Amino acid sequence: MSPLNQETPMWKSESERNQTKEYQENLHREFPVDASVLEDPISRRTFIKLMGASAALAGLAGCSFRRPVKNIYPYAKSPEDLVPGKTVYYATTVSLGEDVAGVLAESFEGRPIKLEGNPLHASNKGFLKAWQQASILELYDPDRLKTIMFKKQNSSKESLEEWLVEMASSSKENKGEGLYILTEAQLSPTFFKVAQDFQKKYPKASVVRYEPINEDNLREGLFQVTGQHIRTRYNFAKANIIVSFGSDFLGTDIGNEIYTNQFSKRRDPDSDTMNRLYAIESRFSVTGGKADHRFPLKPSQVEAAVYQLAKRLQDKGIISSSLLNAVTASEEPLTAKQCDAIIDDLSSNKGQSIIAGGAQLSPTAQGVIFIINQGLNNTGNTVIVDKLPFSDAEFNTKSSLKSIQDLAKDLDAGLVKTLIILGGNPVYTAPADLAFDQKITKAHHILHLTLFENETSQVSTWVVPRNHYLESWSDAQSLDGVQSIVQPVIEPLYGGFQDIDMLSYFLDKQDKAYDLVRSTWAKGSDKSWKESLHNGIIQTVSTQTTVSIKDNGFTAGAEKTQKASGLELLLYPSYSIHDGRFANNGWLQELSDPITKLTWDNALILSKATAKSLNVDLHDMVTVTNGSHSIEASVYIQPGQANQTAALSLGYGRKKVGRVGDKTGFNGFALSTTQSPYYLSGISIKKTGKTYKLATTQEHWSLEGRPVYRFSTVEDYKNHPHAIKEMVEHPPLISSWDEKKYTEGNQWGMVIDLSKCSGCNACITACQAENNIPIVGKKEVMNSREMHWIRIDRYFIGDDNNTEMVHQPVTCLQCEMAPCEQVCPVAATTHSEEGLNEMTYNRCVGTRYCANNCPVKVRRFNFFDFHQRNPQSVPKERKHFFDYMREPDKTVQMQFNPDVTVRMRGVMEKCTYCVQRINEVKFTAKNEERAIRDGEIKTACEQTCAAEAIVFGNILDPESAVSKLKKHNRDYHLLAELNLKPRTSYLAGIRNPHPSLAVVESKA
Ligand code: SF4
Repeated sequence: MSPLNQETPMWKSESERNQTKEYQENLHREFPVDASVLEDPISRRTFIKLMGASAALAGLAGCSFRRPVKNIYPYAKSPEDLVPGKTVYYATTVSLGEDVAGVLAESFEGRPIKLEGNPLHASNKGFLKAWQQASILELYDPDRLKTIMFKKQNSSKESLEEWLVEMASSSKENKGEGLYILTEAQLSPTFFKVAQDFQKKYPKASVVRYEPINEDNLREGLFQVTGQHIRTRYNFAKANIIVSFGSDFLGTDIGNEIYTNQFSKRRDPDSDTMNRLYAIESRFSVTGGKADHRFPLKPSQVEAAVYQLAKRLQDKGIISSSLLNAVTASEEPLTAKQCDAIIDDLSSNKGQSIIAGGAQLSPTAQGVIFIINQGLNNTGNTVIVDKLPFSDAEFNTKSSLKSIQDLAKDLDAGLVKTLIILGGNPVYTAPADLAFDQKITKAHHILHLTLFENETSQVSTWVVPRNHYLESWSDAQSLDGVQSIVQPVIEPLYGGFQDIDMLSYFLDKQDKAYDLVRSTWAKGSDKSWKESLHNGIIQTVSTQTTVSIKDNGFTAGAEKTQKASGLELLLYPSYSIHDGRFANNGWLQELSDPITKLTWDNALILSKATAKSLNVDLHDMVTVTNGSHSIEASVYIQPGQANQTAALSLGYGRKKVGRVGDKTGFNGFALSTTQSPYYLSGISIKKTGKTYKLATTQEHWSLEGRPVYRFSTVEDYKNHPHAIKEMVEHPPLISSWDEKKYTEGNQWGMVIDLSKCSGCNACITACQAENNIPIVGKKEVMNSREMHWIRIDRYFIGDDNNTEMVHQPVTCLQCEMAPCEQVCPVAATTHSEEGLNEMTYNRCVGTRYCANNCPVKVRRFNFFDFHQRNPQSVPKERKHFFDYMREPDKTVQMQFNPDVTVRMRGVMEKCTYCVQRINEVKFTAKNEERAIRDGEIKTACEQTCAAEAIVFGNILDPESAVSKLKKHNRDYHLLAELNLKPRTSYLAGIRNPHPSLAVVESKA
């Protein structure tokens, strides 16, 4: 490997590769043109007036003159066990459908302020993903439903209870005929117990389960080939070779945080056992970004590639199954070379490989994948077969699509008298061909239990506030068998109900949720119950089973893939707002998509060639039509997207949502069908002539084409272990002043391993929750005013047909030779004795010299009072959004971390290495008269990162994990040529390509 030179290809953003006008304009500016411009004269005048008033107060209040005065009230009578200023952690459980994770809720004086993963819970081992981190914001969302509504008018608990008792008594007489319960997928043992009691009592009633993002095709495919109700999960820690057919196991699949953890443990190039990932997919996914080889194909071709591989493996005698004889591939999209490389790897790693399929694959393809895994001896080793939990409840084994289809049929036939909907939003999420929004109106009574008013509430007779999980008593059993407790960490803010409360009205004993949960686990002693509450875990039960393949699994004809014609469309869950349930969560709306970097909207993603063939460009509005259904959407052009394939994330374009999620994006559910909810072929795309501007962060904080991402292949790295450090050539680094030596006490530092980081964004949300970081809204994102202290840069390399993607988290590097400190006229940013680049907010006068002098562009300026913005300065069309921020009941502010200053307008802010966490551990260690242990301080980003890509600690301690990593051959400094002496360094990203396949030859 040689140092970088003019000819060496480098990782670049898409606009940089194309040298767009926008990129050129931004290149030489710290902030885009509008970033420093106030939007209207009133706010400018108000600002000057405020400054005048502030200056007059300066003599009275000294350096804190700009701080608003707030009154505080002490406890009249302090609660027992409360230590003022100390936070307490409670263990509980968060679920989304069947995705279950253990959580520790940090509570300050009775209000939960931050979530961390529960390390005792085997399903997530202490790591949380972005939506799990952000779920705390839902609790305090001022747009939550607060009152019981009957026919759109406020009602009372008494009236609701009267109605429920009446319904229960009339249902008793007819054994529940016409009574339907519609629930989301859930895995609460208590819920199933109550549901069973309900079904016994009302044998003619129906319980229906519908989850819009589901594994129906996987389960159906497994049922076809085994005759059993099972699902598969993976152990990536044991897999040397992984072949993904459209699976996003590192991104959106159930259990992706534990998969990320297992996968990243095998991305160590020094270990001799680094894994290899092949991703065959239609859109760039988080998983595809980590692939050593990625083959972009149309969705129909991805499916054909499954059959192609199965056939080739069978022809070579590596696997055999009579079932495969029935399968015919419509085409062979993988080249012989690609196929040979995969087969070579799979045949030499029997029992140590994984074939994974995405949710959009047909049941037949899912079945074939299972046959391949079985034939390669992976099943039982890397592929675990689990029984479906609660399979004795018929409604739980029936597919989501079949369930909602049958319900729609019954609605249409007028069979549904009373429909009780427990959460969810089927009117928005049901496939378009069901016309569920019209059929549901045929029910006589609809009760919707919901956290927020949504499209389904609008057609409901009763709309009832649902408790947030942090306000609820319940339990859960994860798909891998961990049984855990859901316990409330705050009194319900709006006195709502839980799912089991609703069912218990129909049972004789109207037990409260706590009693029901307690009785589920009654066999345990009080001591073990208390232990469960303390640890969050009750027990782990075995879920594994063994199955064999049937001889007659596939029905004749079903196995043949049709060669799809024309344009194809892939619908997939949003990385931020999932199926739309988090549409009103500002943290998630503003979290840029890991691939497109879009915020506040989704978009119709096309490849450059496809966009050209359709004569459309970025921001063009198009009409997308599937049969009789069509939507309009804005176009986004994405490298790595398969040609003739459009992709649209789900969850956007909602019609009834709170003030944050209003008017965001385009609704993919309006195109989906029951036959194939995530994949459509033969769609048409037509330009409308209108445009819709999307907000993307991809060009913000550009490092101007410098070689910031260093990478290599395993082979190169092993042959030239020192080459990473030598990649950037520079003259001897000489300081123009005496450098301070940091040789005593704790010296804090961080290492970020680019081989492990998947770009999942969880660290951004954890940092936002921990450090009271505001959201700014779409318009301000377009002005480059987003406030995140960590950003994940995303770069591409290669040509349009062979694009690779990488992610690089960038935050304040805490440079010892910090350029920001040299230019601050009021010494608001200075260096601590422990090597932290500190911000003294009270001193900052907002000149922004520091931001202009920061070469890595990690300083964020609070242009407006983003936590409580002056509404006069807000454009009318977004005013409701900022009214939301200023809600009089201030519930959003209940989430604020009291250990972190809430910054105001005119202040520069940036990462502090979570100095409040450092100080807390320092005080504890001092009180206990001991040294701080390595790993005892975890920054918020480090704590949540499932890839364990971030390591923080004392760099003076030679035994600390961070010190050892800093001695690594892969360790390098960002912009090393500037002599910044950063405390945060990076380990180069290493890929592990198959020797016979070409890779993009780039080193940085
Ligand atoms: S560093 Fe951040 S983006 Fe990267 S894997 Fe960890 S949490 Fe995800």
